[in-house]
Amino acid sequence: MKVLIAGIDGYLGWSLARWLTERDDVEVHGVDGLMRREWVEEVGSASAVPIATLPDRAAALERRSGGPIPFWIGDLRDPGFASEVVRAVEPDAVVHLAECPSAPYSMMDPDHCRFVQTNNLLTTMNLMFALVAEGASAHMVKLGTMGEYGTPGVPIPEGSGWLTHEGETAYLPFPRQAGSWYHWSKVHGSNNLSFACRLSGLRVTDVMQGVVFGVYPSDGDDARLDTRCDVDAVFGTVIHRWCAQAVLGAPLTVYGAGGQRRGFIALEDSMRCLQLLLHNPPDAGEYRVVNQLDDVHRLDALVERVAAAARLHGLAAQIEHVPNPRLEEEDHRYDVASDILPSLGYRSRHAMDADLGAILGKLMTTGDRLHALEGVLHPDVSWVGGRRGRPEVVEA
Ligand code: NAD
Repeated sequence: MKVLIAGIDGYLGWSLARWLTERDDVEVHGVDGLMRREWVEEVGSASAVPIATLPDRAAALERRSGGPIPFWIGDLRDPGFASEVVRAVEPDAVVHLAECPSAPYSMMDPDHCRFVQTNNLLTTMNLMFALVAEGASAHMVKLGTMGEYGTPGVPIPEGSGWLTHEGETAYLPFPRQAGSWYHWSKVHGSNNLSFACRLSGLRVTDVMQGVVFGVYPSDGDDARLDTRCDVDAVFGTVIHRWCAQAVLGAPLTVYGAGGQRRGFIALEDSMRCLQLLLHNPPDAGEYRVVNQLDDVHRLDALVERVAAAARLHGLAAQIEHVPNPRLEEEDHRYDVASDILPSLGYRSRHAMDADLGAILGKLMTTGDRLHALEGVLHPDVSWVGGRRGRPEVVEA
């Protein structure tokens, strides 16, 4: 199978390139505009784990896997470029990860909202039309997010459900209640893909993943193979931020009351899920929504778990609740259906405490680089007030 990873230079994209070349008989091609590196730099931050350039990473992976990892560098907002890449690769599947994934970045001001929405809609649309132009037989696996559903206070089905209105019942897409401009960009992309499947016979799997965390399993690897690990308040996943705070001896900060419930997925399980879906495509014309949120945790319970793991590493982890910069419910119901992945044989293999230990262990080796990021761990973007102040630029 020939797989094109759009967003190959990102956190998930690079991990997937490794996962598929190290564990599967798959020919991996990649495309990326290297923008994630610029966005993180713009907010004064850097990946806590140093990352090699894309050409260096690809060379290291080629050496390990024995096969070439062809990649294109360019902006997928350009329809001509997207078509050229798809035409050249002729993929059996495209894993579309090439979007800006940060809610706070999209909430900074109207310009950032406009950028995130147009970027995410255009990369999706350009890949979608490029596949249609090539006959629409390739399978697009698109990373959505559980955040598309929001927290509606009723059970959340897998994409669609039987909905009753004024006494009549029909099987319909479940209403989305996204909580940031970024999350709405994902909703709009999902709607467009759903329509393209009906219209053009495209086959799409839209994966609503929870929050992915973790470092790629390493066995004394070449450091050029590392994937990024962001810990700042704009691009860092909450678990990474807490681990960084613990290593720095700073309090682990919880936004608001901490009763927010979210699904969390270990990086390896995210990869396992994508691999399984690539081998089990939907029929032509089918738009399939898959929910993946292996473990649901309340943030106030999860932070205790991170603090306990940190104490096992000799770190004095304190917990502090800070005013919530986001507009979100701080205590809510969260019952989510997730039946498709188990029906395909998927089982989560992660062990939270071991995964937390691996992140903490990795961050403890980053020394001055992590210390330089201390100033960007505190939220400076508020959902109602936009960006409050520019953090100092950090050398890393
Ligand atoms: P990332 O920012 O690390 O990776 C995205 C990559 O796409 C980057 O390397 C970026 O340069 C590239 N890209 C973005 N716009 C592009 C464009 N116009 N042209 C070319 N390349 C472009 O993000 P990630 O964390 O790996 O997330 C990947 C996808 O998965 C996103 O769509 C995100 O919404 C989704 N997702 C992520 C998580 C998570 O916890 N990381 C959870 C659920 C869903």
